[in-house]
Amino acid sequence: MTTALLLAGCGGDPSPAAAPSTTTTARTTSSAVPPTTPPTTPPPTTTEPPAPTTPAAPAPVVVLDPGHNGGNAAAPGVIGAPVPDGTGGTKPCNTTGTSTDAGYAEHAFTWDTALRVRDLLVAAGVQVVLTRDDDTGVGPCVDVRGQLGAQVGAAAFVGIHGDGAAAGSRGFHVITSSLDPGGADVAAGTQSLAVDLRDALTAVEPVSDYLGTDGLDVRGDLAGLNLNTVPAVYVECGNMRNAADAALMSGEAGRQALAQQLAAGVLTFLGR
Ligand code: ZN
Repeated sequence: MTTALLLAGCGGDPSPAAAPSTTTTARTTSSAVPPTTPPTTPPPTTTEPPAPTTPAAPAPVVVLDPGHNGGNAAAPGVIGAPVPDGTGGTKPCNTTGTSTDAGYAEHAFTWDTALRVRDLLVAAGVQVVLTRDDDTGVGPCVDVRGQLGAQVGAAAFVGIHGDGAAAGSRGFHVITSSLDPGGADVAAGTQSLAVDLRDALTAVEPVSDYLGTDGLDVRGDLAGLNLNTVPAVYVECGNMRNAADAALMSGEAGRQALAQQLAAGVLTFLGR
């Protein structure tokens, strides 16, 4: 979790301390008991109230969900435990993810890319909450991740993944849930978020040539989306088994380019 949330809304109220009770009760008692002595407390000096501070619009919150985790492979009993999948059934808590043929792991890609997106969004005035704190832990389970957006009042939830498809398949795709778990308005937001991210990412990566339509795919089996009641997508940033995609995703410059487009898409969605 990040730390910024608790800082919001704790600006001091500049109002003076409450006046002594004698001044507030005088009105209700004065008709019945005229004061016979001057008040012991001088009337409060009228001073200019503090200059009104224009309340800044609260920074929107975005949840970034770097898929998988570095410790998952060593904890099969934990990540294999069944958790609610959002359809009334269950699925495993988490998975290990894929990797490039050269061994660059998806969890490392998602973690590094998420941090880059986080930094870009924070610089743009967005509060960011991550679903995990590092790339060495286990989990959290997909149902926990999928409910975090609602818990923190997020305007958007973006899961970051890399796919592991046939080597000849290339490109990114953005996944939404077919269940519309947040209702029609949230579903419309989800669709906008998906389109904004798709449009941004095409600057650095072709849309998938093996899944979805024009870079957009709809699924009903992803608990992290099915349980999400804020606008939510998973981005499969590329096929890590494809040489061209792997080259982009394995290098820092490629991840930074992807992160810049992910951040740009989110900011477009937020209207910032
Ligand atoms: Zn994944």
